[in-house]
Amino acid sequence: MRDGNKKMDPKFRRLIREVAEFCPRAAMTNRELALHCLETNRRNFICLYHGERDKNGKTNDESVTEQSPYQVTGTPYARAVKGVREDDVEPQPGHLHCGCPEDVVLLDFYLWKHTKITSPVNGVTEGWKDQHLDPRARLLMATAWQDWTGLTVDQIYKGDQSDTEAEVERLQYQVEVIQTALVDAEEKLTQRNEKRAAPSRHASTV
Ligand SMILES: [Zn+2]
Repeated sequence: MRDGNKKMDPKFRRLIREVAEFCPRAAMTNRELALHCLETNRRNFICLYHGERDKNGKTNDESVTEQSPYQVTGTPYARAVKGVREDDVEPQPGHLHCGCPEDVVLLDFYLWKHTKITSPVNGVTEGWKDQHLDPRARLLMATAWQDWTGLTVDQIYKGDQSDTEAEVERLQYQVEVIQTALVDAEEKLTQRNEKRAAPSRHASTV
């Protein structure tokens, strides 16, 4: 595991990227460690999808045409990686070298390492195994997750906290965000009801 500026063995990192069940804590301790797990031998940061499913990654928002089936691909920028004996490449701010948004990639990494499902028929429990959401499906899922939970990827990381301490802090954060959203929604509802009621009051006074 990474400690301060120490690097994790590349073979260990590869195992973390290839086996969902292996060392899930790596995806939820802190952002730096999670990113380090997605770092290749050539110091490129690549998302799970572009590391495992589509290594050349030619589909992105910069490459779409009017004929493309989707204008929002989930990968905003073209891939820009450092090759053998080349200088380091600086990715777009907030994005990885594969062109994908860092926060969405890290959320996907966390969900891939932690989510499990159980069959009601055979009782088997298993995770994502070799499946990966493509960038567009991943962005849609991440957007829905953030909208519904009020959480961002930053609340995933628990540092040195115990599981219970982290859970309490995360729930407190979530309650606060949801309470603020509730107040806003109630205000909108009140304003809408007042607008609806206004014409009839006006009509009755004429
Ligand atoms: Zn990517």
